[in-house]
Amino acid sequence: MTTGDDVEVIVVGAGLTGLAATAFLAQQGVRVLTVDQHPGTSVHPKARLVNVRSMELYRALGVESEVRAAGEPNRGFQVAGTLAADWEQWIAPPADESDAAGLSPTVAYSCDQQRLEPILLRRARELGATVRFDTTAVLTEPIDGQPTVTLHGKGGEETVVRARFVIAADGARSTIRTRLGIALRGEKVEGESVSAVFRADLEPALRGRQVNAIMCRDAAAFLFARGTENDRSWQLGTYLRPGWEALAPDALSDQLTEIIRAATGLPDLRPVIEDTARWTTGAYVADRFTVGPVFLIGDAIHIMPPYGGFGGNTGVQDAHNLAWKIAAVCRGDATDALLDTYESERRPIVELTVEQALLRSRKTPGQAPPPAQIDAIGIALGFHYGRDGGVPVENPVNPSGEPGTRAPHVLLADGRSTIDLLDPVRFTLIGPHTSRVLRELAEHPTDLVATAAVDASVLDSSQRKRWDGIYETNGTGGLLVRPDGVIQARIETSSDLHDALAMDQSVQGAF
Ligand SMILES: Cc1cc2nc3c(=O)[nH]c(=O)nc-3n(C[C@H](O)[C@H](O)[C@H](O)COP(=O)(O)OP(=O)(O)OC[C@H]3O[C@@H](n4cnc5c(N)ncnc54)[C@H](O)[C@@H]3O)c2cc1C
Repeated sequence: MTTGDDVEVIVVGAGLTGLAATAFLAQQGVRVLTVDQHPGTSVHPKARLVNVRSMELYRALGVESEVRAAGEPNRGFQVAGTLAADWEQWIAPPADESDAAGLSPTVAYSCDQQRLEPILLRRARELGATVRFDTTAVLTEPIDGQPTVTLHGKGGEETVVRARFVIAADGARSTIRTRLGIALRGEKVEGESVSAVFRADLEPALRGRQVNAIMCRDAAAFLFARGTENDRSWQLGTYLRPGWEALAPDALSDQLTEIIRAATGLPDLRPVIEDTARWTTGAYVADRFTVGPVFLIGDAIHIMPPYGGFGGNTGVQDAHNLAWKIAAVCRGDATDALLDTYESERRPIVELTVEQALLRSRKTPGQAPPPAQIDAIGIALGFHYGRDGGVPVENPVNPSGEPGTRAPHVLLADGRSTIDLLDPVRFTLIGPHTSRVLRELAEHPTDLVATAAVDASVLDSSQRKRWDGIYETNGTGGLLVRPDGVIQARIETSSDLHDALAMDQSVQGAF
């Protein structure tokens, strides 16, 4: 057994959320080591919908264009008897809603998880993170009060690594969650699902039409377009039929071939099945997201049906909420009290999202949404951390600009967004260029707060009213925005700024 170099953060799991956490931490300058038991990133495509908030985070990470190049625009959802039949109903993608309302400088996108993860991996390494595969981590007894992880390499070698913080991004079957005695609460969704990734020429059924996803009623199955137009594969998703449980892989592939033929409406199709997977799901939230210096993110703390494409996006947003807080504590800018806000802020959003995914799983595709259903765009962009009671989401079309909400997008004359002016590592005070507090801060700069002074000529002419309503405050101050793009406080005087950094209720005494 050897003792490894100690790092500030160890991330266990290099799946979607572990890699996102790694990249966000590295962007903040944190020394991070990430390990995964698998030989590389995911192979079976699971997540495809990258919601508009995740796209904003990838934009700030500098990989938005890579994600777009690896995926394709989201074209929504069709309902029909078969792929070959006339399509009966089109369900618009959430991207259209956000685009139409001008809510973001980017849009939701379709990018397969197994294409997205290598982008995050490359960026994390470029930013200085160490990521090791073929390495299984076990949380062991703390040494000198610091969390300790024993790493088991493929060749049997063992390394003990101490860190200031551990992030468990080890998925739905999280062994760290079990070791810490954290229970999951929720309910199982009955039944088992099966999916098959296959290649086939479906043009005879498509006849020039384009589709992202289609519910094929005659086969009780979904078909998802995977990859891109230049490298197209397909995925069938359906329920495991009675009698299939004990089938050998080849026999299961034969059954799935029949379902693919029924779903496509092409009875002679000879699909090449590349991979199959069986999975069950449920709607569960962990009792705790944190135990001392160990933080859990992603599927380790929330499991939800895939309807709505929320799972991975929620985990990426957990990672983003946590990364800057850990970085602030590692740098000595904040006390550990700031870290308590990870669970208090994320829990209401996570619980709501799991509830919403469950609601969608119970609905027949194409049916009108039940009254309790909240628009996906509201969950993605309208989250409200620290809201007192009620639903922790506001309508992002009319943003309140209140502390705890996302600093809204206002279009600039050069095509960029106010969101692009925010510093992803430091707080940003953003407001009119005439603002007294902004001028004072520019004259006496601090490491903690960047400034973004906006004058009318920088704004797109259609955006003046929107800017005034959100960012103008009383003309003397501005909005103080956290490194994760969430409004910390409305600032009117220098002493407001001091108070916001030192005495914000949710971060009391943290700075
Ligand atoms: C069919 C389907 C469709 C979906 N569609 C969407 C979608 O459109 N949009 C969306 O956002 N989400 C979607 N999801 C959900 C999404 O795939 C998951 O939420 C996401 O993969 C969770 O990421 P994670 O990193 O938390 O966990 P995982 O992806 O499970 O990664 C955990 C990682 O930890 C590693 N690990 C575990 N234990 C250890 C250990 N002890 N040591 C080292 N490594 C360890 C594992 O090897 C694994 O790589 C879908 C899911 C399914 C099944």
